[in-house]
Amino acid sequence: MSRTSGELAHNRRMILAAGVIDATGMAACPGAVLVEGDQILAAGSPEQIGSVPSAELVQMPEMLLLPGLVNAHAHLDLSGDGVWPAAGNDFRGWVGQVRALRAAQTPALCKQAVQRGIELSLAGGTSCIGDIAGHSPMATAKALRESSLRGVSFQEVFGLGDRQNATVDRMRAMAEGGPLEAQGIRLGLSPHAPYSCGPAVFGAAAECGLPLTTHLAETPAEIELSVSGTGSLRDMLERDIGVWDTSVDVPHAHPIDALIGSLDRGQFLCAHLNWIEPRHVDMLAASDVRVVYCPRASAAFGHCPPMLPSHPWRRLHDAGVTVCLGTDSLLCLDTPDRLSVLDDMRLLFQRDGVDARLLLSMATTHGASALDLDHDLVRFGPGLAGVLACRAEGNTIDTLLADVLGRDDAPQWVVGGGAA
Ligand SMILES: [Zn+2]
Repeated sequence: MSRTSGELAHNRRMILAAGVIDATGMAACPGAVLVEGDQILAAGSPEQIGSVPSAELVQMPEMLLLPGLVNAHAHLDLSGDGVWPAAGNDFRGWVGQVRALRAAQTPALCKQAVQRGIELSLAGGTSCIGDIAGHSPMATAKALRESSLRGVSFQEVFGLGDRQNATVDRMRAMAEGGPLEAQGIRLGLSPHAPYSCGPAVFGAAAECGLPLTTHLAETPAEIELSVSGTGSLRDMLERDIGVWDTSVDVPHAHPIDALIGSLDRGQFLCAHLNWIEPRHVDMLAASDVRVVYCPRASAAFGHCPPMLPSHPWRRLHDAGVTVCLGTDSLLCLDTPDRLSVLDDMRLLFQRDGVDARLLLSMATTHGASALDLDHDLVRFGPGLAGVLACRAEGNTIDTLLADVLGRDDAPQWVVGGGAA
């Protein structure tokens, strides 16, 4: 193909594919995307875009083009090399092993783990992330800022009973420090969970004005501890970690009932919500809580049939709650070569028959909403954070998308993200 030097300077490409779709109403089969550098100039059918003689033609007839994906719940610092425990039914034992390994992690090893997590995220087609920084939080945020990922680095905090005051002081210092936003990554806070952070920590977090996330209603043991102050999590906190003492108050209520005041005041993104009661659905919708469901992580810890007959995400979605997708950590996943909500979409499509277009929304626009990111990052247009190509066969946009979700191969970047 011949091009003039002026055309080369524009680096303009016309990608012709089997189809192109995003979750904001743009869909075409066959599909075409006109790109200049990393910027989308136009997307739609080849007829809609028309002939652009100055553009290099890139033929991808076996590919469906999608926006880069949003992983709203990750723990990149748990992506390190070495023997890390896989998720299983013994949550207390698993947390104990992870804590011991984390304690032995030097800052250099933590940095390596985060870097690997970034690479695995890009390998999975992730353009935006909500990452929980549990180890070396500022170093993790810095690594994210040096990558092409956008999103939020949630600095994780813990604090029960008498330890809450020190945690609140640390959170306030973080909220007053800076920079809170740089290179596409904002700082947020993650009070870890209601069983590891007391009401003063959640109350102060709700007032701090930063993006917030927490793990909520993840296990039956969490509910037992909150309601009656007993069980395996009490044993873990008291005997294994040594943070449960007489200064810790038992709420004597389900964690959602105990936390609802803070959830009402702050803008929380709540992860998991495996074990909620039907009456909580409307409460959470009224609180404007956002929910990130991590289907593979839930399954890895046994929060799926038969232990949990059905996850409440669908009821929350139907009640108007923004429900998006997350991977949780690499330790919960069956894809050692990538961290991608594409594989969580596939689980929900293949196991539960969830509508493919709804899954695309959950993995893009809903994730952007949950992280308070601009929808332009996941919409075919000038602000799009990256374009993925996924192998697909089909004659319509819906059969192409269904075919992508029926497979298990990795996506490729064709614009932005990890594209060469
Ligand atoms: Zn998590």
